[in-house]
Amino acid sequence: MLVVGAGPGGSSCAYWLADAGWDVAVVEKKTFPREKTCGDGLTPRAVRQLADMGLEPALAGSHRYEGLRSVGFGRSLEMRWPEHPAFPSYGYTITRHDLDGLVAERAAKAGATVWQGTEAVEPLLDGPLLDGPPPDPPGGVRPAGHRRALPACHGALVRDRGTGAVREVRARYVVVADGSNSRFGRALGTSRRRDYPLGMALRGYYLSDRHDDLFIESHLDIRDERGEVVPGYGWIFPLGDGRVNVGVGLLSTERRWKGVNTTRLMDAFVQWAPRSWGIAPETACGPATGGKLPMGLAVSPHGGPNTVLVGDAGGSINPFNGEGIAYGYETGRLAAWTIGEALAGGGTEAVDRYGERLEQAYSDYFRVARAFVRLISNPKTMRVCVNLGMRSELLMTELLKIMANLMRPDTLGAAELAYRGMAVVADLLPDSALLESTRPG
Ligand SMILES: Cc1cc2nc3c(=O)[nH]c(=O)nc-3n(C[C@H](O)[C@H](O)[C@H](O)COP(=O)(O)OP(=O)(O)OC[C@H]3O[C@@H](n4cnc5c(N)ncnc54)[C@H](O)[C@@H]3O)c2cc1C
Repeated sequence: MLVVGAGPGGSSCAYWLADAGWDVAVVEKKTFPREKTCGDGLTPRAVRQLADMGLEPALAGSHRYEGLRSVGFGRSLEMRWPEHPAFPSYGYTITRHDLDGLVAERAAKAGATVWQGTEAVEPLLDGPLLDGPPPDPPGGVRPAGHRRALPACHGALVRDRGTGAVREVRARYVVVADGSNSRFGRALGTSRRRDYPLGMALRGYYLSDRHDDLFIESHLDIRDERGEVVPGYGWIFPLGDGRVNVGVGLLSTERRWKGVNTTRLMDAFVQWAPRSWGIAPETACGPATGGKLPMGLAVSPHGGPNTVLVGDAGGSINPFNGEGIAYGYETGRLAAWTIGEALAGGGTEAVDRYGERLEQAYSDYFRVARAFVRLISNPKTMRVCVNLGMRSELLMTELLKIMANLMRPDTLGAAELAYRGMAVVADLLPDSALLESTRPG
């Protein structure tokens, strides 16, 4: 097997394949430790995956936090992570600079071969890329040239970034885990649905006396330089090492999005953030960097006869909260399981089922999340919801369970009931409605 990319998706897939005894090689274009633009926040879902890979002891020196503080319209609410039978009731913050190398190393210890500083420059294909025009999905909108399945891929042409040497790496199965830009995936024929939400976010590190705060903080009423509320969110995540990770995010579902300059928004957030954090241009550790967040399984096809997409390459970020690390680990694990089945005799038919399994695991939840995002993208609705929510700690605690995908399978509590109601509303809001609502003018 060849895995392209050693972020959360690629390394978890490599770990689970190697742990099951399969022969797996990973190519990663960077060399660990490396900088990675991220909020550095691990929710209980991500912690569970790291624990399953035997990595929780390695997190011992990282900052363990207890929950989320929501701030908006003059109010502040602290919500602890809920008790759950499958997930811990705490999270961690750890820079991706430190985290990603740990997981790649874990995969290597389990038996995976990890080639760092090695870039997959081109997929090795048999035949022509295009397989004719696809039918339009019911009510859906696909970009031109969208494919139903990826072609068979037998490996990659890879380049050693140190020596410049290029060679072929051949493999029976190929896992595309090259992140949100996914050049390798696009070379195979993937595309992103334009009517699904796409986030844009920017983050920077700041020195802060509150670096070991026990809550990560999310701001729901961020303002531009004129002091006007902007459709987006801001965060301050304490790292426990003298620094906090500060960022702003926006959703492409908002029609004013194109007019908003994220760098200026970040500057404004730094200016408006509560003084107690000590965030200011003078405490910045360097310039802010940004990235894209493809959400809700926005990228497809999810695979082909011997290829699968995991993590951001498949657009698997949770639209409710912008969380992608846990979903990278989870989809990587699902891909490893599917490929393991194929290798154990299921063949390409087993790999073909990966897309179905992905849909089974996430599509209902992500459909509700996409509808939610669509609703709150309207600044007026957003303002009403935030104002209402911020008056009730109980309401926000239940909402946190929904938004972090921490509802219980064994109880029908307020969150689970509310989610069912949201699912009914989501049925009335097809994704294609978004195209209308985002048209300028
Ligand atoms: C500003 C920002 C803040 C965020 N904050 C959070 C957060 O707090 N919590 C959270 O859960 N999620 C957060 N996310 C989302 C999260 O970062 C991603 O969802 C996650 O990194 C996805 O993991 P991945 O393995 O799919 O991709 P990546 O982490 O992008 O990993 C892909 C890897 O592939 C390598 N690669 C790329 N191309 C090639 C190639 N051709 N050959 C070899 N290697 C290649 C890259 O170097 C990289 O190491 C944030 C995103 C952004 C932009």
